[in-house]
Amino acid sequence: MGILDVLDLPDDLTTELDGKPDRHLAVVACMDARMDVYRILDLEVGEANVIRNAGGVITDDVIRSLTVSQWELETSIIVLVHHTKCGMLRFPEAEFRERLAEHAGARPEWSADGFDDVERDVRESIRRIELNPFLKHKHCVLGYVYDVDTGERRFVARSKVLEAA
Ligand SMILES: [Zn+2]
Repeated sequence: MGILDVLDLPDDLTTELDGKPDRHLAVVACMDARMDVYRILDLEVGEANVIRNAGGVITDDVIRSLTVSQWELETSIIVLVHHTKCGMLRFPEAEFRERLAEHAGARPEWSADGFDDVERDVRESIRRIELNPFLKHKHCVLGYVYDVDTGERRFVARSKVLEAA
């Protein structure tokens, strides 16, 4: 069963691909090569904005994309997909920064944003979205962990924000 069956949304698919996600859905997922986000969420091309980075972390740039997605492309649902055996799990941030500093002569201004617990990071990601003032739809933020060994998708948490009138 797909995410959208769980949500019981109306099946209002249009055949016209106008660039606005037909399912009003934005996905934030890790860039991990083992994850086929469309297959994991039972999505077709045209149904979602898919934003990916190392860890599926809610960075400033992910907020930028989500804000454009909600304000310009009419999405209102956010689905987060983290996964087991993620490279950002227990990421050696200090050592990584040292290596970059040796190479470039300076440390990066950004953090690699690793985490110690994948489920806790899903909850932290939901919290970052809930606290962001620019996003206007926060009532339906759903967090999942994908198991790269079994191919199972496990629900972790959803936002606790009620939709504004
Ligand atoms: Zn990952």
